[in-house]
Parts: sequence; structure tokens; C-alpha cells
Amino acid sequence: MVWNFSKFCFNFRVSSASLAEQMHAQIDSGDKFYSIEITPPISVLDSCQLLRSLQNLYNCSPLFTAITWHIKTSAMPVPPVLPFGKLRALRLGAEISNINSVLLHLSSVGLTKKQVCQVLWYIRDMGIRNIFALRGDRPERNNDLKLDRGFPYASDLVSFIQERFGDYFTICVAGYPLGHPEAVSFEQDLAHLKEKVDKGASFIITQFFFKAGDFVNFVQWCRRIGITVPIIPGILLIQDYTSLIHISSACSVEVPRSVLDIIEPIKDNREAVRKFGVHLAVEMVSYLFSQNYSNAAHFFTLNRQLSVIETCKCLGFCLLEPARPLMHHERCKKSKRIVKLL
Ligand code: FAD
Repeated sequence: MVWNFSKFCFNFRVSSASLAEQMHAQIDSGDKFYSIEITPPISVLDSCQLLRSLQNLYNCSPLFTAITWHIKTSAMPVPPVLPFGKLRALRLGAEISNINSVLLHLSSVGLTKKQVCQVLWYIRDMGIRNIFALRGDRPERNNDLKLDRGFPYASDLVSFIQERFGDYFTICVAGYPLGHPEAVSFEQDLAHLKEKVDKGASFIITQFFFKAGDFVNFVQWCRRIGITVPIIPGILLIQDYTSLIHISSACSVEVPRSVLDIIEPIKDNREAVRKFGVHLAVEMVSYLFSQNYSNAAHFFTLNRQLSVIETCKCLGFCLLEPARPLMHHERCKKSKRIVKLL
């Protein structure tokens, strides 16, 4: 199936300044900003649906869109030559880069240096200039896929990108307010985070958390050890009880009892849980903004935009009602017809 929604979807302008420059301009002017994370869907129809749902969100001007990277590492070895046309993150990145700055996640686990280089040249040609350099999680079912093929740690990936591409890419890295689950200690984890920054990362996006105080504590520690780059809080918008439990367990982030005490009695009422998620996100981000612990928020959307829009409206990012016509609607209908024919 052909994957090409280009130029039909939106008509927004992407800034020519680097993401790091845009971010610093916002911070210097005291403006708050936000960004979103989406995951590439498997089917064309779902991608179409996602692009359509993003349209309302782009009316609320996120600074950038992060696209997660999930190359199959669990069951099969990654082929020596990456099938770029089949990599969903790259296809979605190509679409969205017409509309909004793209931060492409790149997790190096299981990839050789040659493969990482291929990806970087490919996205450079696409005009994407921002990389979220990650090590990635250990593959669960394939012990043959060694972690240390090319890049034992994310800091090695950061160095590699810097060595090969200089300042062409703005590099982001992950931080963990409660420490990374494999870390020997919180202090050592912070020291490794500093290594990633010292090697060339321009900003940090954190793992999600449920207490603003955890982020505050993390920022204070980071500043104390000399990490000066922007640290953007990652905010999970809770959608429902089941996904909350699943995601927090997959990411080894404990849901505090105070949150469970509110959610458990209403867990069968998805809408009530979702509304609470918006409330919690607004409360945490408002606090971090008002106390100057952050100028930005990064929303893990789980590809559902309603909560992000509601949160952005409460935070004052989204003042206007979405009014833009759905230009790509016809194209989506066409894709639907193609799917029916297959
Ligand atoms: P690293 O920074 O390499 O750290 C991993 C561990 O090694 C830590 O415990 C650290 O303390 C330790 N360490 C680091 N350097 C050294 C060293 N020199 N010596 C000894 N120990 C060291 N995963 C995906 O697969 N795709 C995604 O799109 C994705 N997006 C994410 C987005 C965010 C915001 C976050 C927070 C995580 C994301 N992840 C994603 C998950 C991430 O890949 C995992 O958390 C992974 O286990 C660690 O990646 P890292 O880049 O933080 O690793």
C-alpha cells in the first residue's frame, strides 16, 4: 500500500531555526511551550486517523512532535540493511515534518554503527534535524541480540552523532526523575545523564512521574551537578485504569497510592479516569510553571489527542477553537477504499 498523504494534510510553517535555538528563544522570552509524543500506528488507516486527530492539536502550536522508535528487536534480528520504506517512524516523520518540527526517537539497541549511520543520513535527507538519542530497552525474548553491538549506552550514541554530523542534529536525551530502573544508584544515574549532556545533548525529556515534587527534586539534583540544559517534564495523560497499570509497569514507574486511591474506585468509568488524568496533568504542570521549575511540558499522548487538547486549553496554550478544514479528509476516504480492495 502506498503511504503518501503529503501536502494534502496541513499547511503550517516549520521554523528554520534549530530546535535548540527555538527552545532557548522561548525560555529567554519567558514563554511557556509544550510538545507531544506520538507512536507510529501500524496501519495506513490508523495513521490517517492519527494525522486527522493531530490537526486540532496543531492549532494549539506545539513546539515539536516526538515520534517513538520501535524497530522489532524482540523476535528477529534487525536486517543488515534497514528497510527504510517500511520503518513507520520514518514515514510518519516525513509527513509531520511538513507541519511541525519533528524529534525522531532513535533507540540504538540492536543496531550497528553502520545502520545508525544509514538512519541518520536518511533522515538528514528528509530534513529532520532533531534526534532523541536512546539506548532502548533490552529485548525480552532474544538473548542473541546483544545490547553492546554498537552502542552500549545512549551516551555512546550521542558521541557518535556528534562525531559524524557535528551540530547538524539537535540531540535530546532521556532523564529519569526516580532513577532509571537498571541504575546502580540515583547518583550514578545522574552522573550518566550528565555524560550524555557533556557529549552533546541540548535538552532532556524526562520519564513520566505522578508527583510534581519528584520532578522538582530531580531538577535540583541536575543543577547541583552542573547540568544546565533545559529539562522538560514528561507528562503521561492517563487514559484509563488498565493502560495506566500496563504503562507504569512496563516503564517501572510506580503509581503512588495517593493516585490509586482516587482512580481505583472509579476504574470502570473510563471517562472519569481520563478527566482525572487531565486534572492531574494540569495541576502538576501549573505548579512547575508557577514555581519556575520548567518552561515546558512534553505530553505522552498515547495517540489520543482529546486529553492533550483539554490540558492545553486549561494551561492557556490553546485559546482558539479548532477551525481549520480537514484538507486530507478525502485522501483518508481514498485510503479506506484501497484497504477494502486488498
Ligand atoms: P542510557 O542513558 O544508556 O541509560 C541506561 C542505563 O545505563 C541507566 O541505568 C544508566 O544509569 C546506565 N548507564 C548509562 N551510561 C552508563 C555507563 N557509562 N556505565 C554504566 N552504566 C551506565 N525506548 C524505545 O525503545 N523507543 C522509544 O521511542 C523510547 N522513548 C522514550 C522516551 C522517553 C521520554 C523515555 C524516558 C524513555 C524512552 N524509551 C524509549 C525507553 C528507553 O529506551 C529505556 O528507558 C532504556 O532502558 C534506557 O534508555 P536510555 O537512553 O535512558 O539509556
